[in-house]
Amino acid sequence: MKENTGILYIYITILLTAIFLCIAIPAKKVQAASVDWNVIALDPGHGGEEDGAYYYGKKEKDINYAIAVKVKQQLEAYEGVTVVLTREKDEEVNLANRVVRAKEADADVFISLHCNASVSHKSQGASVYISTGAKWRKTLQDFADCFLGEFEAVGLDNAGTFARVTQMGGRREDGTFDDYYGVLRHSYNNGIPALLVEHCYMDSETDRIYVKDENGITQLAQADANAIAAFCGLEKADGTKVKAKHAKKYGATTRARELKYYDAPNITGIKLLSYDGKTPGIATYLVSVQDEIGITSLYLVYQNASGSSVTVPLEYRKSLTTGEWEVKAYIPENMSLETYSLCYVGAYNAAGYDAGYNLADGEMIGFGACDWLNTFSYHGEADLTVITKGSLSTAHAKKIQNEIEMGLRNRKNIYPISFYPY
Ligand SMILES: [Zn+2]
Repeated sequence: MKENTGILYIYITILLTAIFLCIAIPAKKVQAASVDWNVIALDPGHGGEEDGAYYYGKKEKDINYAIAVKVKQQLEAYEGVTVVLTREKDEEVNLANRVVRAKEADADVFISLHCNASVSHKSQGASVYISTGAKWRKTLQDFADCFLGEFEAVGLDNAGTFARVTQMGGRREDGTFDDYYGVLRHSYNNGIPALLVEHCYMDSETDRIYVKDENGITQLAQADANAIAAFCGLEKADGTKVKAKHAKKYGATTRARELKYYDAPNITGIKLLSYDGKTPGIATYLVSVQDEIGITSLYLVYQNASGSSVTVPLEYRKSLTTGEWEVKAYIPENMSLETYSLCYVGAYNAAGYDAGYNLADGEMIGFGACDWLNTFSYHGEADLTVITKGSLSTAHAKKIQNEIEMGLRNRKNIYPISFYPY
């Protein structure tokens, strides 16, 4: 009995001490970092002969580099972080070698810095591309969210988070399709989580203020540094930390996350059923779909013998889910289906993923059957030479050659990141 009282006394003492400590010292909420990343690779897009987008006398490669240098400076004010750049000067480094450099530095994350441009010159806002791969998907979505939150805060439109699968049919070891963007693909396949930031549209009237002078570039760099510091839980010597901002608006991969669907659109066939022969005219297609989430947007690219191409969007209201669908299309003026042939089918599904299907010899090449063996190499200032192997590649080479002739592709074109070595 006496012994029991003693134990009870000890218990009560411990309990009272615990209660006292809880009241006296309020619990401090620990802001755990989302990741354990200490080595950050910053990849200033383009460089050397590769200018990227080029507007108002400003070259994208220079802007990307200026942003990267400032982000590095800002991040180095934090404790225990190493920042490496994939190029230290105005030099041309191919996409694979950028990742090799990051890998050699033992980078925990690869962040490619770019500025965008659009064909219409009407697009605006910041967008972030992440890998389509399953590994790190949630982490990268959250990281992208921090970037977009920062960009919203400096007044940029949030154009969204996107993931894009290859149009060339390449697959990873696990059988899933490779990423479209080279730096994301090489990083993923080398075990480094990566994202690509398109800060703004250089050719947009609204976004121009962010790239036209030092002030704008400093704002973008500050936004990047804040996003990285907050997400990595970095802390300065005096204890200063940055609180993560979260985006109010989301893009494509958030739809994928909500829908829990991460596949590219799957079109299994397309056939012309009827055409009224007029120009402009109406054509009806039979579209075969195997896509549970539904195809929200579908377009066809036609080309004639001289290489001029016309894009025909297919018109429908409800998204196309698994099954066969009759879909109408408006055939524009001065285009006859007799002289133009279908060479490409592009599609988006409700999860926000897009896919492209090239056609060769009248046969549609879907992802399942795609076997591209292209290698790309440059000769001289403006030419892109495509060395190909196999019949599919020949068709694709012709398409690229035509696009070069049409002025849609060259080394200083408006698709700065999407066309060179995929
Ligand atoms: Zn770029």
